[in-house]
Amino acid sequence: MKKLLRIDLTKKQFRYDEMPPIYANLGGRGLTSKIISEEVPANTYALGPENKLVFAAGILAGTSAPNNGRLSVGAKSPLTNGIKEANAGGSVAQKLARLGIQAVVLEGVSKTLSMIKITKDEVTFIENETFRAMGNYEVIERLKATHGDHAAIISIGPAGESCLKASSVAVTSPDFQIRMASRGGLGAVMGSKNVKAVVIDDTGTKDVEVVNPLKLKEAAFALSKGILANPLIEGLKQFGTPILVNMINAVGCLPTKNYSMGQFESAEMISGETMIAAMANRPNSKAVHRCMAGCVIGCSNVYTDEKGGEIVSGLEFETLGLLGSNCMINDLDDIARINRLCNDLGLDTMDIGAAVAVAMESGLLAWGDGKAAYALIEEAGKGTDRGMMIGNGCLATGLKLGVKRIPQVKGQSLAAYDPRVLKGTGVTYSTSPMGADHTCGNALPSPANPDYNPTASTGQAPVSAFLQWYFAAIDSLGICLFAALPPLDMPDLMKHLIDCAVSVTGEAANDTYLVKLGTSVLECEKKFNEKAGFTTKDDRLPEFFLTETLPPSGLIFDVSEAEIDSTLKFND
Ligand code: SF4
Repeated sequence: MKKLLRIDLTKKQFRYDEMPPIYANLGGRGLTSKIISEEVPANTYALGPENKLVFAAGILAGTSAPNNGRLSVGAKSPLTNGIKEANAGGSVAQKLARLGIQAVVLEGVSKTLSMIKITKDEVTFIENETFRAMGNYEVIERLKATHGDHAAIISIGPAGESCLKASSVAVTSPDFQIRMASRGGLGAVMGSKNVKAVVIDDTGTKDVEVVNPLKLKEAAFALSKGILANPLIEGLKQFGTPILVNMINAVGCLPTKNYSMGQFESAEMISGETMIAAMANRPNSKAVHRCMAGCVIGCSNVYTDEKGGEIVSGLEFETLGLLGSNCMINDLDDIARINRLCNDLGLDTMDIGAAVAVAMESGLLAWGDGKAAYALIEEAGKGTDRGMMIGNGCLATGLKLGVKRIPQVKGQSLAAYDPRVLKGTGVTYSTSPMGADHTCGNALPSPANPDYNPTASTGQAPVSAFLQWYFAAIDSLGICLFAALPPLDMPDLMKHLIDCAVSVTGEAANDTYLVKLGTSVLECEKKFNEKAGFTTKDDRLPEFFLTETLPPSGLIFDVSEAEIDSTLKFND
């Protein structure tokens, strides 16, 4: 039976609770959002003591289901002022599941900079001021040396400690690479609680208990086999997510020069194909890397310099789009080094990329100047005015510099897909309770759905709604998004996915399982945001997407407000 571990940081106390009925059979985003909506006042200050920070393992965490180890981090967001979940791969969720913990809830505020260690037998509070202002790489190195290879680590960098609104939460992979729960400034919530790191050690634990192990084994095997047979996955296995650079550029929606163009003339220089070719000649580079045990795809990478010194793992599409084309930076090494800097400081590469482009538009630095971008972001770790500005994300940067074209919704920057071409994605950016977030429902064209026209100005709301509930359910299962794409094209795989989930929870198998799960998550998130003061006026893209045509397609975002407002409708 899974438990909730509640940690009172003010009193330095903890307790294990049985899962109350309202949280039963939930995990991942479904559980973080339910806990936040039930236990955090919607109008509270996100960096105040009433906010809670939740780390939740997905429903499938630690089982034989493929790609099952996403960790959901949830709180009220200081960036959007709404409910927030961001998730990352790594080892933490699977270790929590083996410890019998569905979620850890951090409550109150620690008086001193603290770390928490969770093992099978105890929860320990460790005060250590020497870690103050330390970057994530050194924190992880030191904690690994102290606590050993069985540990998995959650940590924040200096940006989180300074409560910068674009700060992220770092999570370690099995080989102690950094994965980021990047979005929404959740690192700042951890910093506001004075928690530098959480160490999770599952030594001495047994396999995760599930209700129907035989059924799970069969369904997990069939699901893994089906994922690997999907043609989409082959490209991801070879090139990782950077394969999207050339594809999205060809479609004409790769954000370029602060979303003023949809194609980048130097896209090839930052493409997955170029990256993999460069890595082939670089010692210690890895074109395939798995961010978690049980991943059947391996879309991640380890990117090194010419001498074989590691720069970053993994260099991903969103970073290449937001810090690359969107800033007109065409040097892969420059982007990789900025990525490492963001990882070390604990910053979201996406919001920071959008912020740098906004700063470039203001004239603060030159388009394409990767070295100047690095120097500006570095200031976020030094607490200068410019550093605080950029570290608070693209909206704060745009407001401070007087830039009118700020690509954000609800305070969070858009992802690396221009919504004037991908209009279903634009509806998701507009209406997701998370703010602009592609992982909540990215409406890409697909050979499996040839009738879908992503550029049509009507018919986008149902597509976005379908994807939003589907991925809310996926985030609750704790499955990696890429493993969740093949079931969209292959009905048999959808059945296997549902069978995996109900084998764990013991619920009856039902075709509507994922719909019900996903819609219940969205409903609870939307209600929280409404209580926090959000209205349909907040479900809008910035004006310039509606008025400026995007070269080369000449498209604008022209989905009507009535259609946008019809996207997420729930019965009271
Ligand atoms: S496919 Fe990529 S993101 Fe997903 S689990 Fe594997 S390495 Fe991690």
